[in-house]
Amino acid sequence: MEIFTADALVLEVRDLSDADRLVTFLVRDGGKKTGVARGARRKHSRYAGRFLPLSKLTLTWAEKPGKDLVRISTAETQRSSHRIQEDLEGILVAAYLADQANVFVQENEPGDLYFRLLDTTVEGLLEGVPLDLGARYFEAWALRLAGIFPPPQECPGCGQDLAAGAVLPAHEEMLLCPECGGEDPAALSVSPEVVAFFDGALMRKLEELAQDPPHPKVLRQAEEICVRIRRSFLQQELRSYRVLQQTRRQLGEL
Ligand SMILES: [Zn+2]
Repeated sequence: MEIFTADALVLEVRDLSDADRLVTFLVRDGGKKTGVARGARRKHSRYAGRFLPLSKLTLTWAEKPGKDLVRISTAETQRSSHRIQEDLEGILVAAYLADQANVFVQENEPGDLYFRLLDTTVEGLLEGVPLDLGARYFEAWALRLAGIFPPPQECPGCGQDLAAGAVLPAHEEMLLCPECGGEDPAALSVSPEVVAFFDGALMRKLEELAQDPPHPKVLRQAEEICVRIRRSFLQQELRSYRVLQQTRRQLGEL
């Protein structure tokens, strides 16, 4: 058995039994792990309130060779995410960001890039970056880190500058110029403002983007494009995103 201590970002928390919880977390060097936190569901647990998705903890855990589950022994909060999750939208967006990291990082594979992305996005949100902007920034970067969404600058088909607008063909994972992608009737057209948003988001820091935030319409289209690319890549919709969408619809209908 080997003991580890490291900074960890909480991705998912599930009940394991009446007393225990299963916590999936991301560490810089070790990737994604799932550990048992004994007694974490008990009333006066020493872990009380610590295992909140997106919180940053200093965790100590034990690993046994050949066992997938690790055993968590201590958890100290370094940066709580509770301020992001003070309302329903915050709770759903936090779950959505954590879910993406959970899906894109495989168990025990290096996760340092996603760790950094999640860490800086959460830091930005806690410092007041709007949730919508933070979520769109994260979506675009999560795809880029998976190697499927290069910054849209030149058309991969013909080399034309995409600044004047682009299209996303139905089953493509990158933006093309209207000439190269325009034959497809199911293609989404991408306005110059949205191309500029992606270019900025994938080249600049979140705090810089927040100083001159894009129009909500630009963010809606950016979201639609990222979600479509992700669905094509993963061959499924994320559960947390379906919940987010259903809730938006219900709130819109009220
Ligand atoms: Zn082209």
